[in-house]
Amino acid sequence: MEQKNSNNSFLAEIEELRQQLEEATDTIHAIRTGQVDALVVKDSDGHQLYTLKTADQTYRVFIEKMNEGAVTVNRDGIVLYCNTRFANMADTPLEDAIGMPILSFVPGDTKEKLQNLIKSSWEKDCKQEITIKDGGDKDMHCLFSCTTIELDSGIALSLIITDLTILKATEKELKLRNEQLEEARSITEMLNESLEVTVKERTHDLTISREHFKLLTNNIVQMTWTNLPDGNVSSYNQRWYDYTGLNFATTGDFGWQELVHPDDLAETVENFKRSLQSGEMFEVENRYRRHDGVYRWHLNRANPLKNDKDEIIFWVGTATDIEDQKREMERKDEFIGIASHELKTPLTSLKGYLQLISAYNKEELPPVIKNYIAKAGGSLNKLQSLINDLLDVSKIKAGRLEYAVNDVNTNDLVGQCVENAVHMYPLYTFENQADKNYKIYGNQERLEQVLMNLVNNAVKYSHINKTVRIGTEQRDGYVRISVTDEGIGLSNDQKSKIFERFYRVEDKKNMTSGLGMGLYISHEIVQNHKGCIGVDSELGRGSTFYVELPLLVE
Ligand code: ADP
Repeated sequence: MEQKNSNNSFLAEIEELRQQLEEATDTIHAIRTGQVDALVVKDSDGHQLYTLKTADQTYRVFIEKMNEGAVTVNRDGIVLYCNTRFANMADTPLEDAIGMPILSFVPGDTKEKLQNLIKSSWEKDCKQEITIKDGGDKDMHCLFSCTTIELDSGIALSLIITDLTILKATEKELKLRNEQLEEARSITEMLNESLEVTVKERTHDLTISREHFKLLTNNIVQMTWTNLPDGNVSSYNQRWYDYTGLNFATTGDFGWQELVHPDDLAETVENFKRSLQSGEMFEVENRYRRHDGVYRWHLNRANPLKNDKDEIIFWVGTATDIEDQKREMERKDEFIGIASHELKTPLTSLKGYLQLISAYNKEELPPVIKNYIAKAGGSLNKLQSLINDLLDVSKIKAGRLEYAVNDVNTNDLVGQCVENAVHMYPLYTFENQADKNYKIYGNQERLEQVLMNLVNNAVKYSHINKTVRIGTEQRDGYVRISVTDEGIGLSNDQKSKIFERFYRVEDKKNMTSGLGMGLYISHEIVQNHKGCIGVDSELGRGSTFYVELPLLVE
């Protein structure tokens, strides 16, 4: 019975203690959250009032809400108080953290460090970075700031613990970025240095090549200049200034036109404009006035310098003094004129005597002599046509190639030529492909001369048994008379030169007799008829030479 009574009193005591514990927990919570700042405690001396003087509500809330951990420890390093942030940092329930030794929150290897810090902090305020355990495997870098505080219950040590994890990560990132930046900076510096070296080298090369160019242009016998894409002159060499006696201010841009002989100016300007527009080589012969007022003939040439996009950057031009060559040519022309004229008189009498001999009592002449007379006649004809050509050339040069003009039928022209050709070249085939009859205005004899020259060439520059076609066709106000052969043909380069005086293709394999006058004379005659002469040809495939003349009646 007594046993039962003591059990019951124990149970009642336990129940009372449990209720007291609950009450105490509620009270602690109320204090912590700032709901109460005073409490009445009943003890053996009766009721006592405890006010929370050092932690009034504002400070308690402030400390609770702080981003840093806040801890107070006593002399033995036991946690007297800590805020929720510290409990979270240490991953320990708040109620468990209070009463634990502060050293239990740091890993073994830093315990000594913290202990030393705490020890020194009792003497004076200290700060140190220390790692604490975050409950898991991870350590947390923290800054411990320690200072002593005076509490009612005596002096305690307060520790403010700042989580440096983000700061450390940012520092690490910053360090990395700094390193990268430093690396980039040193690379840039290196690049800069090598760029500087390259620029220096290039500048040096450029200076040298500019000096070379200047030296070269100032030492060549030609006058040289450069033009901008719009034609403005941008520079001359020294020889230009020496020759003209003028400076850039007077002859730059388009000032050079003042120095061109008035008779040559129109052609020069026209050719120059054409080249500027087409981008093709500029070439013209003209006379430039020297510083003493004397005009001298020059051959002008300018070529464009283009960039990768095929755009013209500038033009480089040269003017070569051809005055002496011109004089030589004139003397040569004069000589040709006189010589051919002098040759013509004995030739005519020779021809007359030959005719007399061949007409003289033919039956009495032995066949071998007749044969010789025929051969002499043939050679005489060739000689005569050569002399006629020479005379024509000197007449053209002297501007005296004159003739009467009349209506001419193209069918008569072509018919006559085919007839001549069949008679002269029995080993070739000739096809008359004349279209209907066209009327043109000109000199029948001279036009026959042109056509026969084309036919002679067609035969001369093709192998025997080949066919030569002579035809006509109408073309937009013109009639085109063409001579087509199956001969050796011409390259593009040759095509552009064959109408020049005395030009002959240098072809050792197909070399024939001739002086390179026929096409030049033909060109002049056709030009005087306000027409044009040209050629379509392919090397090894034959040629078609054509003459286009204005139609009199369409
Ligand atoms: P040539 O007396 O030399 O024939 P031309 O003035 O008549 O003089 O011709 C000039 C050059 O043009 C010739 O030397 C020749 O090389 C070339 N030529 C002219 N006609 C033809 C042709 N039908 N086929 C190939 N080459 C030709």
